[in-house]
Amino acid sequence: VPHGGFAEAGADLELVGITKRFPGFTAIEKLDLTIPAGSFFALLGPSGCGKTTTLRLIAGLEEPTEGRILIGGKDVTATKAYQRPVNTVFQSYALFPHMTIIENVSFGLKRRKVADANALAHEALRLVELDHLAARKPAQLSGGQQQRVALARAVVNRPALLLLDEPLGALDLKLRRQMQIELKDIQSTVGLTFLHVTHDQEEAMTMADVVAVMNKGEIEQMGAPQELYELPRTAFVATFLGQSNLFMGRVTSSSGTSIVVDVQGRAIEVPRERAQRHAGEVTIGVRPEKVALHRDAPAESSARNVVGPGRITDVSFSGVSTQYEVTVPGLGPLTVFAQNTSIDTLAHAGEEVWLSWAVEHGFGLEDDPA
Ligand code: ATP
Repeated sequence: VPHGGFAEAGADLELVGITKRFPGFTAIEKLDLTIPAGSFFALLGPSGCGKTTTLRLIAGLEEPTEGRILIGGKDVTATKAYQRPVNTVFQSYALFPHMTIIENVSFGLKRRKVADANALAHEALRLVELDHLAARKPAQLSGGQQQRVALARAVVNRPALLLLDEPLGALDLKLRRQMQIELKDIQSTVGLTFLHVTHDQEEAMTMADVVAVMNKGEIEQMGAPQELYELPRTAFVATFLGQSNLFMGRVTSSSGTSIVVDVQGRAIEVPRERAQRHAGEVTIGVRPEKVALHRDAPAESSARNVVGPGRITDVSFSGVSTQYEVTVPGLGPLTVFAQNTSIDTLAHAGEEVWLSWAVEHGFGLEDDPA
């Protein structure tokens, strides 16, 4: 096998019942996770939720208190970090400053006495479109270019699994967006398994095939980005991944197709298959861009939920869309995103409005907001 025994293709990663306790603190609790070979997987969560700890466990830089780690079906729980088919790209991607770019990228291969180290390193640099700068030193490159070198250096080893720990964190927004697309392209070209850790929900949704939302050391929900966005199951996911308008109420009737929830005397309907609970006290929600703003009370319709009247308390115009905050007595403040198709239709703070959304866009959670 070339490249020092590393895999040619990506491998599955499996975490089985992983717990990590630090003195006086449990960072990860009974974590089960399977990442299929060749996927771009994002672990998304707020600061301190345990993302980096999870990566360090997989890389072999930390030892789990309990549980097993399998890569490509092989138990590596007791395998030393340098013997695992894993590479990590961190936010601070220390390149060797005294070496040229090509020397930086070929360094690991040469140390492992891989025969065609230079050719492989040039190939990796072509992948990140930096081969023309191969003779330069790191200090002669921009931050984004250095980050791409770090990536080439990791990819050249053909690790079965590439771990990315906020690798774009140090880049400015524009470069970050560009690198997100490039990174995704590189992953689909090389076919390795990428595990990307980030607290940036937009970054996770843009890049990953599958996103796992992590909170307090546990995975709350996992799925394709569109799936998680369309149908969040918990209040945490509904508010961490995009924004949501959430309402607490009581189910007053339940049919084969929908539930009707009484929220402060208003009947709000949610499709049954989009609700996690069908009786008693429930929390339901709708995304801000699914809510329409009306200047006059809209006609009652079984296909729509209508609430109002309310008053616009805040308007923030952002070019392509406008965000409105609308206070409806009893319901509290709701957020509405409206596309700015015409400047004439903009509503203003203080205006009285009604809100509506198609029943099919509502969802019901399995828990309540914390
Ligand atoms: P961030 O995005 O801020 O890096 P994270 O999700 O990566 O956050 P971790 O670094 O995995 O979070 O840390 C998870 C929790 O475990 C934190 O509350 C942290 O304080 C704690 N923790 C991490 N390392 C140790 C340690 N060596 N000893 C004690 N507690 C630790």
